[in-house]
Amino acid sequence: MSATADIDCVVIGAGVVGLAIARALAAAGRDVMVIEQHDRVGAETSSRNSEVIHAGLYYAPGSLKARLCLEGKALLYSFAAENGVTARALGKLLVATSAAELPKLETIAANAKASGVDDLIALSAAEARAREPELSCVKAYLSPSTGIVDSHGLMLALEGHIQSAGGEVVLGTRVTHIKRDGGLFHLTLAPFNAGDAAEETTAESGADDTASAESISCRTLVVAAGLHASRLARTLFPANAAISDAVGNAEPPSYQPPETHFAKGHYFTLSGRAPFTHLIYPMPSDGGLGVHLTLDIAGQAKFGPDVAWTDTISYAFDDPDGERRAAFAGAIGRWWPQLPQDALQPGYTGVRPKLSRQGEPAADFAIHGPRVHGVDHLMILYGIESPGLTSALAIARLCTSELLTL
Ligand SMILES: Cc1cc2nc3c(=O)[nH]c(=O)nc-3n(C[C@H](O)[C@H](O)[C@H](O)COP(=O)(O)OP(=O)(O)OC[C@H]3O[C@@H](n4cnc5c(N)ncnc54)[C@H](O)[C@@H]3O)c2cc1C
Repeated sequence: MSATADIDCVVIGAGVVGLAIARALAAAGRDVMVIEQHDRVGAETSSRNSEVIHAGLYYAPGSLKARLCLEGKALLYSFAAENGVTARALGKLLVATSAAELPKLETIAANAKASGVDDLIALSAAEARAREPELSCVKAYLSPSTGIVDSHGLMLALEGHIQSAGGEVVLGTRVTHIKRDGGLFHLTLAPFNAGDAAEETTAESGADDTASAESISCRTLVVAAGLHASRLARTLFPANAAISDAVGNAEPPSYQPPETHFAKGHYFTLSGRAPFTHLIYPMPSDGGLGVHLTLDIAGQAKFGPDVAWTDTISYAFDDPDGERRAAFAGAIGRWWPQLPQDALQPGYTGVRPKLSRQGEPAADFAIHGPRVHGVDHLMILYGIESPGLTSALAIARLCTSELLTL
């Protein structure tokens, strides 16, 4: 006879993806608890991004990123409209600033078409300038359905849905270890110490160092822990799994969590108002989409993020000798030559959870359910970098469709 769980479903992580999954599970009638280490929802990557609703131009056709971005974009605009969350389809101009960039521009447009994006409009330099008089480019594509969303408002709305369906969001509590026993997941919990997350590195640890701490058991577990997903998953699938199997234990299986790498992005804000009404994106660069201009809901312009690979999760804004500011000014000046001097102010940073290393081709989202790791009632999400905000509601659909059919 199987043991009784304290709670039916636990979702670890109250970022936009964990909240969206918890909402979907709660809406399906499941008893859900979200456990978040910080004292508020969305304190990590979900509040340190560009807040752009992506149209799905860049991702390999048929990939999870391409499919979930397209589906997620439509779901997100509808959810926002129905729940009073501010979202605006401002449109984006993807620009080539020289003839040398034209092949790359056309490759992205062809890729978008192959992914099912059917609303791109090609613009000559003059047509682009008619829309954005201070823009300098040789050709552009307008993506009318790209937009922005109030990510904080979105997460509060998701939290509200969870609570009104009877679910709970527990804050200030860190899951330090996961064990599977008797058909249940047993989570070790500890109060969160400020600075713990900041100290984390790419080095993984599987140790259960909180044996005397509180614990909770559940039947279904979703690990939506963003930057910390690999480390946490490794507590359930320790590296010595093969040794355990050899001495007769049935679990855990030989599955090993992928490694998460960190790529920090810095944003500069613009003092004063930007003379642009669209989002402006240059050609993408290794690991990112190029230093682009986005506007937030209040109309504030920001530039970034750049790509700085790192071994540590730290949100410090590093620009000791102004080199980063100069690099931003140079990159922006290619498509906005009138960028006023000294207009760039250090803004904020975010850290991308990446499954590829520097120089490797971009990896897809990794959403691992029982078919991948062999453990029933378990979903683990890795590498949910951009377009994870756009895709959140579609990711939730995918995860719950697998979990609810078990
Ligand atoms: C610089 C940057 C720009 C981006 N721009 C965009 C964009 O414009 N559009 C877009 O669609 N996407 C964008 N993204 C991607 C998007 O922000 C992410 O895909 C999305 O926020 C991921 O949400 P999440 O819930 O998976 O992760 P997170 O927001 O990181 O949430 C995970 C949560 O889990 C919690 N947690 C972790 N471990 C534990 C534990 N052991 N116990 C308890 N809690 C734990 C964390 O505290 C965190 O709150 C960007 C990302 C970055 C870094």
